[in-house]
Amino acid sequence: MSMETTAWTQLRDVMYAEQERRPLTRATLRRIGAFARPHRRRIARFVLLGVATALLAVATPVLAGRVVDVIVSGDDEGTVVRLALLIALIAVAEAVLGILSRRLSATLGEGLILDLRTAVFDHVQRMPVAFFTRTRTGALVSRLNNDVIGAQRAFSNTLSGVVSNLVTLLLTLAVMLTLSWQITLLALALLPVFVLPARRMGRRMARMQREAAALNAAMGTRMTERFSAPGATLVKLFGRPEEESAEFADRARRVADIGVRTATAQAAFITALTLVSALALALVYGLGGFLALRGSLDPGAVVALALLLTRMYAPLTALAGARVEVMSALVSFERVFEVLDLAPLIAEKPDARRVPDGPVAVEFDDVRFGYPSADRVSLASLEEVATLDTRGGEEVLHGLSFRAEPGQTVALVGSSGAGKSTVAALLPRLYDADGGTVRVGGVDVRDLSARSLRDTVGMVTQDGHLFHDTVRANLLLARPDAAENDLWAALDRARLTDLVRSLPDGLDTVVGERGYRLSGGERQRMTIARLLLARQRVVILDEATAHLDNTSEAAVQEALTEALEGRTALVIAHRLSTIRAADQILVVEAGRIVERGTHDELLAADGRYAQLHRTRFARRTMDKAA
Ligand code: ADP
Repeated sequence: MSMETTAWTQLRDVMYAEQERRPLTRATLRRIGAFARPHRRRIARFVLLGVATALLAVATPVLAGRVVDVIVSGDDEGTVVRLALLIALIAVAEAVLGILSRRLSATLGEGLILDLRTAVFDHVQRMPVAFFTRTRTGALVSRLNNDVIGAQRAFSNTLSGVVSNLVTLLLTLAVMLTLSWQITLLALALLPVFVLPARRMGRRMARMQREAAALNAAMGTRMTERFSAPGATLVKLFGRPEEESAEFADRARRVADIGVRTATAQAAFITALTLVSALALALVYGLGGFLALRGSLDPGAVVALALLLTRMYAPLTALAGARVEVMSALVSFERVFEVLDLAPLIAEKPDARRVPDGPVAVEFDDVRFGYPSADRVSLASLEEVATLDTRGGEEVLHGLSFRAEPGQTVALVGSSGAGKSTVAALLPRLYDADGGTVRVGGVDVRDLSARSLRDTVGMVTQDGHLFHDTVRANLLLARPDAAENDLWAALDRARLTDLVRSLPDGLDTVVGERGYRLSGGERQRMTIARLLLARQRVVILDEATAHLDNTSEAAVQEALTEALEGRTALVIAHRLSTIRAADQILVVEAGRIVERGTHDELLAADGRYAQLHRTRFARRTMDKAA
């Protein structure tokens, strides 16, 4: 590399370093402080232990020097033995203190991991659905695992590395100065030789660390995605396993590369440090020996100085290394804080109300809505895109008004993409309307407590998602305090008793992603059972369009009829029987209600509904007539 390129590389590094240093602000440090505060007693104890260890560490070289002096002066043997015993005692004490402080720092570190993890989990849970539709699960999980651990490492290393080493270093220096200020100053003169490069190295390591974390997360999400059943199926169907492997290998190689680069940088650094300390040692022997021969220094002092010097470079190495580690691990803190800083778009008001008792009406009053753009709900680093999509916000619902009276069933019909699911999503506040008001029981949903809204509005979706857990646990999600016979009663009404009885472990059979496979119809009835357990007064139902065979469909239909009884219902309807039975039909097209009325009224009006009815149901009606 020519001089010019070297200079250019250096300049660029400094520029990057400056750019990257900015986020590591005082605010970040203050927040870390806030996480550390609950542990301050332990931290104080840890610092005290550090001071004690440092005192012991300087005592041994001084005693060794004394031994040499005793030998040289020909003093009695008893003193030598006493000194040796003292050195042994100190060694034992050092060992004990070492274990104690390691234990304390582990307690501190694990405590911090615990605090951060629970904080992130709690926060992420509160994020709106929009956030989860955008972020990649793997990236999010990596934040919770790797970065939280990285953050803890920063914390523990700062404590054990910086605090106790700093004390050791200062004490050692003080003792050395009293022994011979000339030798100490000369040894110190060598310091800048590696302290200055260490600063730069710190920044470079931070950058590499950041890159490594991003690459690792990318690799992780790739695996989660490709190893999920739908992802794996896609790879199989399109038959590009070689390309997939190659692409994965490429990512893995980049992770490996950065690992090698980090290790090399670290090794170069440590080697330089060792070399400097060896040179300094030669200096002590040379100059010390010279002064001792001249009689201006005790031989014991030379030995003590040499021993102290070797002991000084260890904490110095650790300190320089700690700087590197702390810098890079602060990045982890930042990444964690980044997630914690995402303000949930949908939050509960401090004076949130409850839904009034009794049957409730549902009301949409001139509701306007557009899906939030990515930059409002997510983080670029979690989506793995360079910049977030700022588009969006395009209005999907253009001023919708309707009212479902208590106990009524309102059917939403219309072509795909008309906005029916969006209407349904506004009711349980999966999203908030941009204009107008959505009311449940006469109260704006934004004024309701999350709990009350959850207890009031239930939703049965097409896919009927089940957690990978037992049937019991999946049901108890709806009502944690439900008794065994409540569960069976709900299963009975959802037409699931026979199925659950036939399962290998009954209620304790694991279902869901990797568990016992339930059919689409069975899953949907499971969500109906959940709904019956939760006893929500308002039900949103997304009627299944496909994947139900006839027997399943009949069973689901029966279960639904029971489930909807006495409840206010909003049904995204696909089945003629449901639509016919509805108290009110809303025909939604392009985000507007274009027609409303009962089946007979709308057929008589001979408008959009009549047209939909003809195209969609004519065949079935003909089938039935035949
Ligand atoms: P329907 O349920 O009637 O088929 P939707 O309510 O799902 O219609 O969709 C209405 C419009 O909103 C469509 O144009 C669709 O592309 C858009 N849309 C649906 N979900 C999202 C989303 N998560 N982000 C952005 N746009 C969406």
